[in-house]
Formats: sequence, C-alpha cells, structure tokens
Amino acid sequence: MDCCFGFWIREYSCSDVYFIIEVNPVMSYLKRSPWLIHYDASSCNGCDIEVLACLTPVYDVERFGVINTGNPKQADLFLVTGSVNEKNKTVIENIYNQMPEPKVVIAVGICAISGGIFSECYNVMGGADKLIPVDVYVPGCAARPESIIDGVVKALGVLDEKYKKLNAK
Ligand code: SF4
Repeated sequence: MDCCFGFWIREYSCSDVYFIIEVNPVMSYLKRSPWLIHYDASSCNGCDIEVLACLTPVYDVERFGVINTGNPKQADLFLVTGSVNEKNKTVIENIYNQMPEPKVVIAVGICAISGGIFSECYNVMGGADKLIPVDVYVPGCAARPESIIDGVVKALGVLDEKYKKLNAK
C-alpha cells in the first residue's frame, strides 16, 4: 500500500482482475470498525450473491475493517438490494430507525436504485430512496463485487463526514 496525495492507494488482484482502490485515510472519527447490515428487499438474489462474494476471501471486504452484522443497533452502514414494495417497506423503515446516528445507506443494484425490472409491478414503490435517505448508489444488474466494494469505501467517507458534523454540534 502506498500513500499518494493524501489517499492510500491499495492495489490488489482477484483472479484475472486487477484494480486499484483509493481509501481515504482521514477517518479520524471512526474509533472502531464500521459494521454493515444487509437487507434483501425484493431482489432476484443476483445482487445478494455478489454481496456475499464481497465477503469471501477472493474480494474480502473485511480488509477495510467492515464487518457484516445482523443487528441494526450495531450497524453504521445499511446496504439495501432489491426494490421497495408495500410488504417490505415496514422492515426497511424498522431497520433504518433502529440504527444509531450517524448512519449511511447504500443502494446496491438498479432495483434498489429505481425499482429496476420490478418497477412496473403493482406493489413496487421504486428504489430505497422512496422510503429512506440514500447516500451512495451502486449501479449494475447485478452490481459487480468491485463496484460494491467501491460503494462501501465511499460510504465510509460519508460516514466519517457525518461523524464530524455530529461532533461539531
Ligand atoms: S439489479 Fe439485477 S441482479 Fe440486482 S436484484 Fe435487480 S434484477 Fe437482480
């Protein structure tokens, strides 16, 4: 890992894919590893498989200190896949409302962004931002693990900014 213009440049390869990711080192307000909760709203499971791939040793999102949790009260990041519909909207609101401030929401995949292929369904309201504020959008159908990791890293930057604003009050 090298430092360049205030960013840590992390280079790594996954099978035949080689990519570079920038990690903002100025996360002074985060005193511990940020924890993430994932909710599959009403996806086809394509994006969920890619989210799981991020947790495998191949992509290893935990290298950024991010840990997957099932408890919203312990979560800093809320990762949503799939569209919002009349049946799951209460669950999404419940998860979001139980998370402590500050919190960051990541919409993964076109379904979580806009409703995607489910947008014309009779009970679909659209993307996650129809219900809760979304901070980071990760496009794709399905979203690729590289994109999801990029979105999570961006979310860590947003989380740090929110910490700073909260502590400045
Ligand atoms: S964006 Fe594509 S892969 Fe992801 S849940 Fe929607 S239809 Fe499935």
